Amino acid sequence: MTLKIAIAGVAGRMGQSLVRACETVDNCEIIGGTERPGSEALGKDIGNVAGLQPSGVEIVQSPAEAAKNADIWIDFTAPIPTLAAMTALDMTGVKAVIIGTTGFNEAEEKALQEFSKRFSIVKAGNFSLGVTMLTALVERAAASLGDDWDIEVLETHHRRKVDAPSGTALMLGEAAADGRGTPLKDLQTPPYDGITGERETGKIGFSVRRAGGVIGDHEVLFGSDEELISLRHTALDRNVFAKGAIKAGQWAVQQSPGYYSIRDVLDL
Ligand code: NAD
Repeated sequence: MTLKIAIAGVAGRMGQSLVRACETVDNCEIIGGTERPGSEALGKDIGNVAGLQPSGVEIVQSPAEAAKNADIWIDFTAPIPTLAAMTALDMTGVKAVIIGTTGFNEAEEKALQEFSKRFSIVKAGNFSLGVTMLTALVERAAASLGDDWDIEVLETHHRRKVDAPSGTALMLGEAAADGRGTPLKDLQTPPYDGITGERETGKIGFSVRRAGGVIGDHEVLFGSDEELISLRHTALDRNVFAKGAIKAGQWAVQQSPGYYSIRDVLDL
């Protein structure tokens, strides 16, 4: 059966990457896409905007219109438009929602989870297989190494990224905190700046860099007085996130409504 996909923010970096990735996946069709009010991409053809042949699908503003005949909605935009779209999708036939948007605050995250009564939702700070594997390794290392090992999550992204630390860095921090059996909010250090005092034992720190066109680079550093262990992932092409999101969509349409992670999709 062909998976019919509608994409939020289809003219964005991830939106275009999703359109191109769908071309390389069997039984995948983009049947709609949205852009923000005032965007120059409104009314343009989805294929053209992604640098492909015309697809006959026009970019619109309304999520309900874009998703009229869709099985799944894929959203890589920003927290407010993502939440607004969920309400608009309620009256459509959409079964599953894949959320790659990052930067949700606690209240927004809660609001999002409410929609899992209606849709099967897969939300991930990173849809790449490599990062999903890295997350599992980090959890294992944090569980095996004692609290006297410092844990630092380091990330580098392109200069246009608007939230920090990245969704992936937070996901890795959560994996380390899970390994230690304590919620991340109880272990996360405040950002290092000024006279910070000595580093507290057992805490998880974050460091952020923004430069050029870096797609995404994450490292988790475990440090004792005698040695360092570094687990690192570098994304070489945005395509990895797009392919992972489409794979999550293929999986999610077959699930009952609920809130799922990429680790559920890959059965890790
Ligand atoms: P981008 O700015 O290139 O694209 C976002 C697009 O959303 C833009 O085209 C923008 O016009 C559009 N948009 C904004 N408001 C809208 C609205 N109301 N309706 C429709 N479209 C709207 O950004 P990007 O690099 O593609 O990243 C988007 C999000 O995805 C960010 O939160 C980023 O952190 C996240 N991201 C997640 C992953 C992952 O694997 N989970 C990977 C890469 C990026």
